[in-house]
Amino acid sequence: MYDIAIIGAGVNGCSVAFEFTQVGKKVIIFDMEKIANGGSGAAGAFISPKFSKTGELQELLHEAFVYSMNYYEKNFPLLIKKAPLLHIAKDDNDAESLKLYKQQSQLELLDVRDELLNNLSEESQKKENVSINAGIVNAELMCQAMSKSAKFVKSEVQNLVYDDGLWIIDEIYGAKEVVLATGAYEQLVKEPYIKIRGVWGHRIDVQTSTKNTHSIHQFVSISPNSNGELAIGATHNVHYHPQTSKEDYDMEVGRKELLEKASKTLKLDNVKITKDYTGLRSGSVDYMPLVGSLVMSQETLQNKKINFQVKKEKYREYAYYPNLYMINGSSGYGFVLAPYLANILKEHILKGSEINHRITPARFFARWARRL
Ligand SMILES: Cc1cc2nc3c(=O)[nH]c(=O)nc-3n(C[C@H](O)[C@H](O)[C@H](O)COP(=O)(O)OP(=O)(O)OC[C@H]3O[C@@H](n4cnc5c(N)ncnc54)[C@H](O)[C@@H]3O)c2cc1C
Repeated sequence: MYDIAIIGAGVNGCSVAFEFTQVGKKVIIFDMEKIANGGSGAAGAFISPKFSKTGELQELLHEAFVYSMNYYEKNFPLLIKKAPLLHIAKDDNDAESLKLYKQQSQLELLDVRDELLNNLSEESQKKENVSINAGIVNAELMCQAMSKSAKFVKSEVQNLVYDDGLWIIDEIYGAKEVVLATGAYEQLVKEPYIKIRGVWGHRIDVQTSTKNTHSIHQFVSISPNSNGELAIGATHNVHYHPQTSKEDYDMEVGRKELLEKASKTLKLDNVKITKDYTGLRSGSVDYMPLVGSLVMSQETLQNKKINFQVKKEKYREYAYYPNLYMINGSSGYGFVLAPYLANILKEHILKGSEINHRITPARFFARWARRL
């Protein structure tokens, strides 16, 4: 019997595994394929804030960025590479946002040196930019390291039954608590108010004679060189989905697109692609992540005492699945958000700390119930 079972061994599931094994809990983690099989295995895994005007997502990502940089440096110093990050505006709107960001940023802003600017395309040299100290983690090794003290089971979980205070998983494993960290894959517990969007991404490792010292984000993300190679990645294809598309993803078209977009930013010489990574990242409809307990929609709707047409919802009145939680919807910021969100979830499960409703799944139930 386990204290906690985690379904999905992406960065979200593995971060939760780390939190609980660190405090001595017995943790089991399932993945249908392997650790970092989904979006997490494809990620460039840049640790970066959101360079935009203020807003709740920008604030959350700022907090998560500061938290996660410290977390990775403290717990996994060998798996994080610190490198300055240069974010270049894609268009005029982006340039306006960057100007505002720079006026109000709480992070130290770095000067952009001429050597770096000279490496950029003429067009990108003229664009507004911002540079800060940031990091990149090794996506797959990081997920493996975070989950190493948990028991890993390669299996696609299909069945969850709650019986006498215990979750029974596929009729074999028992756990007191279950965390669903299944990314953009089919949801195990189907609730109509949960809508997760999958966006397909592609990353390539390339050999190049171009020297690059920075992480550069503009149309795609470009990493600094390491041993003559750099990574170019983006989540860019909203039409392709591995579980529903009729045709296979065209790797050659994806490679071409990534190289073309990267070349709009940086002059890349003598390029040879050495490896491809692909995967789905998952996002919510309001772009904020989802962390916390799941509302049982039918049971909650049947409670005649609840008025769903109120502006200030009483989330405590809702009926929740017992000891069942989700962590998902991290969009293009899974490696920034996961450690921060996993800590919030741990505090909630072990100490009953309340989770801010700007990130709980219950906010979507409230909106859905109001519309009914
Ligand atoms: C190309 C690309 C580049 C990216 N770059 C960055 C970046 O630079 N920085 C950043 O922070 N984020 C980046 N992201 C986003 C980041 O990868 C995602 O936010 C993150 O991976 C989401 O993690 P997850 O654990 O929620 O989902 P996933 O990593 O998709 O993990 C879900 C796991 O659940 C498993 N699973 C699903 N259902 C079941 C089941 N029933 N039983 C067992 N296992 C199951 C899947 O096999 C999968 O391994 C990028 C994404 C892509 C695709």
